[in-house]
Amino acid sequence: MKNKIISIISIAIIVCSLFVVAVSCKNISEPVTTYNIWLDVSDDTTVVCSQKVDVVNNYGAPIEELKFNIYANAFDKQKPLPCTQEEQSDFYPEGISYGEFSLKSVYGDIKEYDFDFESNILSILLNAPLQVNEKISIDMQYTLSLPHTNGRYGFNEKGISLTGFYPMLCAFVDGEWFYDEYSPLGDPYFSDAANYEVTFNLPSGWNYVSSGKSKQSEDNGETIVTASAKNIRDFALILSPTLTKSVSKYDGVEISYLGDKTNTLEYAQKALEVYGSIFGKYAYDTLAIADMPFVAGGMEYGALCVINASLGGATYEEVVAHEIAHQWWYGAVGSNNLIDAWQDEGLTSYATYLYFVNTGNVDYSSLMLSDAYSQFHRFIDIQNSVGESAKGVLGGKLTDFPSNYYYTNVTYNKSLIMWKYLQDMLGKDALLKALQEYYATYKFSIATPDDLYFCLDNASANASALMKNWVASI
Ligand SMILES: [Zn+2]
Repeated sequence: MKNKIISIISIAIIVCSLFVVAVSCKNISEPVTTYNIWLDVSDDTTVVCSQKVDVVNNYGAPIEELKFNIYANAFDKQKPLPCTQEEQSDFYPEGISYGEFSLKSVYGDIKEYDFDFESNILSILLNAPLQVNEKISIDMQYTLSLPHTNGRYGFNEKGISLTGFYPMLCAFVDGEWFYDEYSPLGDPYFSDAANYEVTFNLPSGWNYVSSGKSKQSEDNGETIVTASAKNIRDFALILSPTLTKSVSKYDGVEISYLGDKTNTLEYAQKALEVYGSIFGKYAYDTLAIADMPFVAGGMEYGALCVINASLGGATYEEVVAHEIAHQWWYGAVGSNNLIDAWQDEGLTSYATYLYFVNTGNVDYSSLMLSDAYSQFHRFIDIQNSVGESAKGVLGGKLTDFPSNYYYTNVTYNKSLIMWKYLQDMLGKDALLKALQEYYATYKFSIATPDDLYFCLDNASANASALMKNWVASI
């Protein structure tokens, strides 16, 4: 198993290196950065990786330096734990476990590179500035030692979660690479959409779901899988020795499910139908869902959702609907979740509310709202009672939120209340018209709050003023 994939990796490196020498920079026809990643899943805890990134300068100005965020480094034993203190026992049910990211080499037409352990940032200084619409190939090799955890990245008794595992180009915002320290609170990943082709060996008897369309081949009794996806926010792969895999098709979308529940595929189809009809057609031709032990309700990745396997009933359906809504708000339309988490989380919560309205479970949609109201007002009361009145400002750095409780109430509950208020004030038709324009205009890019305000105002004059009041204060 190991030698076979390693040989594929070695050939890939040689080919890539020749490619770099021959045509390090050239004009490209498709202006999207593309990752090729080869993974050798040698056992439950170690993955040997080779990665070639064709970075395309579609940023409008010459680029002298590249910055990759290495989220996996946040799990190193010399770093603060990547979880909050309150969730530590759920995050590490078998005790604290560390991971290790080991960078072996970086090749390309580069002057030098530097991996800053503290910030998790790999900086690569190019030999010559990368001009607009040119591309450059960067090759790197690294090994992952996985932590044992119920967090986003690592392994547990159900399998392996490879999310945020690879050096990921930072999002390019206002002329520079944007990154922040790894936040244990909220969603830490932030990137531009890119194309991916990821090849890995599937351990014998295991199942998997991944971002994108995958095909399998057999090589000397070993199963090799290649998964391809275009314009996804990030690539994710879930592998399991025990979970079963089922597949269905809806309106041209292949839906894969790794888990043992009977209604998941039906919920996924309903979500694609509801969101497709009210926001715009689903942006991808695949959707994957995996039930895994997970510290929170669920988590979204590019065309893939992880759902906490211990959930059941309507709560499970809500989380499935929530994570799939993120494919519109996070996946296709990106936003800076490191400083404006409300922008995708609030809209995703509102979308989930609409999912229940549109699928006939009005009782549950009402319950979602009444829960948001009661929890948020209780939160305000508690803050006032301890003399720390909550300002209720929606934006802010993840790392500045005082607690998960504070973050959840502002980012989810207050935001959902805000969206319902806008629906009541503008009318649902005008609001959905704004969201349809927002989706169509910013699909595969990163939208700012101003971009959202612009679409609101287009649908209904001065509508954004209503939202800004909520964003700025209580
Ligand atoms: Zn969410």
